[in-house]
Amino acid sequence: MIEQSGHGTVTIGSVEKYITDTAWDRGWVKDIAPARERTESVGIIGAGPAGLAAADVLRRQGVQVTIYDRHDRAGGLLTYGIPGFKLEKDVVMRRVEQLERSGVKFVMNCNIGTDLSFQALRGQHDAVLIATGVYKTRELSGPGAGAQGIVRALDYLTASNKVGFGDEVAEYEDGTLNAKGKKVVVIGGGDTAMDCVRTAIRQGATSVKCLYRRDRSNMPGSQREVANAEEEGVKFVWLTNPKGFKGDPVSGVVIQRMRLGDPDASGRQSPEPIEGADYTEDADLVVKALGFEPEDLPEAWAEPDLPVTRWGTVEAAFNTGATRLADVYAAGDIVRGASLVVWAIKDGRDAAAAILKSFAAQAAEVAAE
Ligand SMILES: Cc1cc2nc3c(=O)[nH]c(=O)nc-3n(C[C@H](O)[C@H](O)[C@H](O)COP(=O)(O)OP(=O)(O)OC[C@H]3O[C@@H](n4cnc5c(N)ncnc54)[C@H](O)[C@@H]3O)c2cc1C
Repeated sequence: MIEQSGHGTVTIGSVEKYITDTAWDRGWVKDIAPARERTESVGIIGAGPAGLAAADVLRRQGVQVTIYDRHDRAGGLLTYGIPGFKLEKDVVMRRVEQLERSGVKFVMNCNIGTDLSFQALRGQHDAVLIATGVYKTRELSGPGAGAQGIVRALDYLTASNKVGFGDEVAEYEDGTLNAKGKKVVVIGGGDTAMDCVRTAIRQGATSVKCLYRRDRSNMPGSQREVANAEEEGVKFVWLTNPKGFKGDPVSGVVIQRMRLGDPDASGRQSPEPIEGADYTEDADLVVKALGFEPEDLPEAWAEPDLPVTRWGTVEAAFNTGATRLADVYAAGDIVRGASLVVWAIKDGRDAAAAILKSFAAQAAEVAAE
């Protein structure tokens, strides 16, 4: 209706943002004050959107909630992955502070598996939610792949986000994770790669190139992000694959040109090398943004009974997040693989609802005895 009346396109996101910001500014968003405190406690591993969403639902019902996270700040990838120009960090921090004021305990700088064992954590709580996300970087191979100046996307983005918070980051100061004055090459075609190229532009790189082994229409990242990046001066080099690296510290990427061949099982055309068509792209900072995989949780937590799929994600029931371990649930990227914030929030809420249901069933059993 508004569109037809000549006001142009309605940007729903901006409308939602205005409503939310107004609600916070005017004090309409209240701290959580449960009608009654309950004795049951839940330990949540991971303070990303899945963990925070679950904490919110559980705390509203008076459950005692403790969130453990290995980072110094809560928010998961909202805080240290997604760049500040895409997501203002005070939006995340005000939500974390609200949960703190509402009685959710945060135990930061606590890596489950080293600082506190998974088994000890289970012993301290009536239920545990695993919301640890996926952090293992897919690596590059080829000669020179270990050279100085070849860095992981998440290390690069985390450093940049920490600097945005005003932290002193030694690896940023000494140039290791800083693109200023450098020829930057980012390898990968997903949204993480787009965040890296756009961050490098903002840090004052002399040139920023993005290498992707397929073409524009076959890349996984959003086309809007590609257009944004191009507008900001990023050059995309389609149908290219890194074959090796020159120099240590790195001075160039040896590029294998590719062409698209027959469709694979997923229906996408497979990239195949064009023999003899190599060249070197100058680079003094190379960022690897080839995607993320789950860490090996059964191994890291010495918990061989924690069920995982063949991709390493935690095996959990659809819509409840229940795992085969008693009173252990899982939510977010660690169940789905690298996904989106909205799904993490949905999973966190679903798992919290399932935990509440299980507490109610256990209480009913005790009452019946
Ligand atoms: C660069 C980047 C940009 C993105 N941009 C977008 C976007 O624009 N829109 C969108 O919808 N999605 C985006 N995503 C995806 C989105 O951020 C994730 O899907 C979402 O954050 C997953 O939430 P989560 O709670 O499952 O995990 P995470 O956000 O990863 O949080 C997991 C938390 O668990 C902690 N943790 C892990 N292991 C342990 C342990 N052993 N002990 C203690 N703590 C632990 C971590 O420190 C982390 O804080 C992006 C992802 C990346 C990497």
